[in-house]
Amino acid sequence: MPHPETWLSVRPEGLYCIPGGFYIDPMRPVDRAIITHAHSDHARPGHHKVLASPATIALMAARMGEGAFAATQSLTWGEALRIGEVTVWLTPAGHVLGSAQICMEYQGSRAVVSGDYKRTADVTCDPFEPVPCDVFVTEATFALPVFQHPDPHGEIRRLLDSVALFPERTHVVGCYSLGKTQRLIALLRQGGWEAPIWMHGALVAMCRVYEEQGIRLGDLRPATVAAKNDLIGQIVLAPPSAIADRWARRLADPVVCMASGWMRVRQRAKQGGVELPLVISDHADWPELLKTLHDVAAPELWVTHGREEALIHAAEALGIKGRALRLIGYGEEEA
Ligand SMILES: [Zn+2]
Ligand SMILES: [Zn+2]
Repeated sequence: MPHPETWLSVRPEGLYCIPGGFYIDPMRPVDRAIITHAHSDHARPGHHKVLASPATIALMAARMGEGAFAATQSLTWGEALRIGEVTVWLTPAGHVLGSAQICMEYQGSRAVVSGDYKRTADVTCDPFEPVPCDVFVTEATFALPVFQHPDPHGEIRRLLDSVALFPERTHVVGCYSLGKTQRLIALLRQGGWEAPIWMHGALVAMCRVYEEQGIRLGDLRPATVAAKNDLIGQIVLAPPSAIADRWARRLADPVVCMASGWMRVRQRAKQGGVELPLVISDHADWPELLKTLHDVAAPELWVTHGREEALIHAAEALGIKGRALRLIGYGEEEA
């Protein structure tokens, strides 16, 4: 059985499957790309042929335009496709809508590339499914023991408590347009917030795709056209770049909030002028990473990006061989 290091190689364009002739989440334009999910650091424009889950294709089309690629092909979960000498299939990664792990088998040797993932329940996407393999390729965004994400429902409760406490102010929450925005909306609805949720224009397009894909988000309204007084006591969502900007300052005495796993780092919240940090992450935290090592039971772990040292150290203590791929260009969900 050939070891995955003989058929998967790291090239300047990204991770390349030699017997399949394709790249996974390449950084540069290539002929054939398989894309884990539609965040802009993984799904880049300019490839000739693109293979991904149906929702990822829809999100990429909304983001880059229908004609961004010469050909697109989608695979439903578990549907196997022979590419060259490799069998490829996708399983859910639980990160954002459509996010997939790329499973590959070549001559009985199996590698799984997780892309970004999390294990916490999220009603806006299908849950991560562990696939036993010979090499598991993981992210390591929050791979330090200090990162233990709290229950997201508790974070939403803190937001709703603050809204109740300051009825004369407008709560503006910074969140990335793809994934975090829709998850936040779903969590607010689960938390009992049925009022309209007001949106910065930059968040609208991705919400529309989620709704087209069957994720119901309730009453969403454009914040840009609303009068300042209409937004008193309301919740407004905006991209992180807008919350400390003139855009947010025109709201009524705004409470600046931010939903991100990085809000665990107090310094980050402070620097961003965030009054109410909400620790809500779409990436696996330290316990979830360790649980995943256990669940996929791979004898070898490759780490694409993030805090690889701590994770590789922990893996080696469990008898799992670790390797840092140091792929450049991943990490910021949106440029
Ligand atoms: Zn991502
Ligand atoms: Zn990423």
